[in-house]
Amino acid sequence: MLVVMDQKATPAQIDAVVAAIEARGFTARPIPGGQRVAIGVLHNHGHVEASPFLGMAGVKEIIPVTKPYKLVSREFQPEDTVIRVGDVAIGNGHLTIIAGPCAIESELQALTIAKHVKQAGAHMFRGGAFKPRTSPYSFQGLGEEGLKILDRVREESGMPVVTEAMDHEVFDLVEEYADIIQIGTRNMQNFSLLRRAGRTEKPIILKRGIAATVDEWLMAAEYIMEAGNPKVILCERGVRTFAHHSRNTLDLSAIPVVQIESHLPIIVDPSHAAGRRNQVIPLSRAAVAVGAHGLMVEVHHQPEAALSDGAQSLYPEQFVELCSQTGPIFATFRPAHP
Ligand code: PEP
Ligand code: MN
Repeated sequence: MLVVMDQKATPAQIDAVVAAIEARGFTARPIPGGQRVAIGVLHNHGHVEASPFLGMAGVKEIIPVTKPYKLVSREFQPEDTVIRVGDVAIGNGHLTIIAGPCAIESELQALTIAKHVKQAGAHMFRGGAFKPRTSPYSFQGLGEEGLKILDRVREESGMPVVTEAMDHEVFDLVEEYADIIQIGTRNMQNFSLLRRAGRTEKPIILKRGIAATVDEWLMAAEYIMEAGNPKVILCERGVRTFAHHSRNTLDLSAIPVVQIESHLPIIVDPSHAAGRRNQVIPLSRAAVAVGAHGLMVEVHHQPEAALSDGAQSLYPEQFVELCSQTGPIFATFRPAHP
């Protein structure tokens, strides 16, 4: 349930409603908005009687919340969330492009790729220091050394950096270095990791689980928000299907569905969906046309020599093409929100 306060409600009236909610054993979560202050009721099991609140001073209306997710829903917050990192924003009416290699392999590799992607128009750099690999024998990432290299990339290029926190063990360390922390597809329902992500100040990119429904994905985002972090960016990266013409199947139909259900920004990772570089530019065009707020793409200056995901990594000149093709599409199909 959502208690919407009158625009002229005083702080004392808001406090009184919060106290009344908490006196019934629920959690009250004030949600300041552009037009109104609303107070979300959380942790209720079942129906909450609206009439006691309707009679309180400063209360305008009570909106029943019909979805299992609350804080992520448009019922709780009608306006789009915009997430800012330094000078870059996601969800603010511009197309945000995040690019870099799958894994940080060396300082020279990372700085070389950063230079290329920045020149082509990327806003943020992404590279993995801790890699979730299917095989324990594959390259697992440089670990802390990779994070230190990301620091250098930020310093040299001025771009904020995105990197993955694979587990609790490394979360604190990743939090120190990253501007945005990625939670990977395999961890989308790692609920204790989601709760930890809810206790950082840093924004989180939450990738869709490889076999997750949109509802499960939004509930995972709800875990992060419920734990206290409102800065969640959703990332569609393809789901497992019977197809073998691509690594996964990019579910672009999820973008408009999520945008109706949630105020959170949503970006698309065409690289892990495709698994092959020749599908990445067409899928990026489609993702932008369907309303994504941003793209997250793998780029390598020598993909043949990449230590992970070389087959799906774009050559720098292909990334230039991707940027120049998607910009005009975004300008034509600006994400329209319901
Ligand atoms: C990655 O981003 O490099 C990665 C492993 O992604 P995902 O979790 O989507 O597989
Ligand atoms: Mn990868």
